[in-house]
Amino acid sequence: MTSDDAITPDPETIAGLERWRELPIRQQPEWPDAEAIERVHRELALMPPLVFAGEVDRLRQRLAQAADGQAFLLQGGDCAETFAGATADNIRARVRTLLQMSIVLTYGASVPVVKMGRMAGQFAKPRSKDTETREGVTLPAYRGDIVNDYAFTEGGRQPDPARILRGYHTAASTINLVRAFTTGGFADMREVHSWNRGFAANPANARYEQLATEIDRAVRFMEAAGANFDELRDVEFYVGHEGLLMDYERPMTRIDSRTGLPYNTSAHFIWIGERTRQLDEAHVDFCSRIRNPIGVKLGPTTTPDDLKALADKLNPDREPGRLTFITRMGAGKIRAALPPLLAAMKDEEVKPLWVTDPMHGNGITSSTGYKTRRFDDIVDEVKGFFEAHREVGTHPGGIHVELTGDDVTECLGGSEQIDELGLESRYASLCDPRLNHMQSLELAFLVAEELRA
Ligand code: PEP
Ligand code: MN
Repeated sequence: MTSDDAITPDPETIAGLERWRELPIRQQPEWPDAEAIERVHRELALMPPLVFAGEVDRLRQRLAQAADGQAFLLQGGDCAETFAGATADNIRARVRTLLQMSIVLTYGASVPVVKMGRMAGQFAKPRSKDTETREGVTLPAYRGDIVNDYAFTEGGRQPDPARILRGYHTAASTINLVRAFTTGGFADMREVHSWNRGFAANPANARYEQLATEIDRAVRFMEAAGANFDELRDVEFYVGHEGLLMDYERPMTRIDSRTGLPYNTSAHFIWIGERTRQLDEAHVDFCSRIRNPIGVKLGPTTTPDDLKALADKLNPDREPGRLTFITRMGAGKIRAALPPLLAAMKDEEVKPLWVTDPMHGNGITSSTGYKTRRFDDIVDEVKGFFEAHREVGTHPGGIHVELTGDDVTECLGGSEQIDELGLESRYASLCDPRLNHMQSLELAFLVAEELRA
């Protein structure tokens, strides 16, 4: 479509995008210089979009399939991406891990796996306290690289508007490399699966060897039957992040010339965190006005009425694939907390997509002082998620995990049996603990078993 054909947006649509400014808002930094923020808004609003509205629409269709049990969503990546962490090696390792997991899940689920990185924009973090105190010194909390520096110094912790532009450029180079990897041959299923074979042959993971062998045979069968692996080399890969920092999300939201409707062009998928999902506040209002599929994180205190109100606000037209509920209940709570929620939405004509985040309800502090999670609790929450869906008769539609492709030691347990002392050897996260490469694959094999059950 040429710009001459562009559809003029409704003035109310445009005005609605500013409505959040009049509403209560949480988890935003106190920028030192209002004028500098205005300049950043203007500059960012002129930058090219990172994703195209047509891709966002296609993702919505994919998520509708997942909500219906015809696909399965895999979302994963760092808790907090960092600017320094946006290296080729790092990005490659995360994409590789997600592709490896997705092959195992595809086999387990016997449906397409929708692949999505918690990547290329996951730079802003909600915090439980506005400040942090160390040895008697109190400074602003670290809110992610797009706001301030992790370094515990007065200058470091000062929110800096220039970081928003750096966040955009870092996201742009990340998504560029992700697109190159996922369309340039790196995602060839035969290659990716051969990496899993090595994992399953390791004595610590021998229990997965049979599943890996079955996948081998399936790949060979496809080859023999004439599947065109050259076409299968390109995979659809989406990106999503928490839509938290309004000074990034608003300027990245643009009117699509094809439809006259607003799309947040910083990512395909945007989710609202557990801490900012209040119905009458800024984040929910803003997200209700953009066309991207929206996720909402739900903790264990969520009620059926909350869900209905969120669905009415975020998906009033009951559009398939529009709304994803990402539950993060905690392993000890999910079996009691989730079934009533599933039941409350079960009779809706258009169902939300249900995804489990088995990470955020299972945080603990080790005796050595590290923020960590037990691999066994993560697995238990995933199992509880599948049990709840079996009990109610709904579709378990996906999994949302914090992971890295690297060999870090941040979560306890797994086949390498990382213990409390082991945590300190390679703890690299600036925020929440992530599954390492091996733990991620192990989780994928376990989920594949559940999907086949
Ligand atoms: C997160 O996903 O890193 C996060 C903060 O999650 P939640 O909103 O579920 O606490
Ligand atoms: Mn996190």
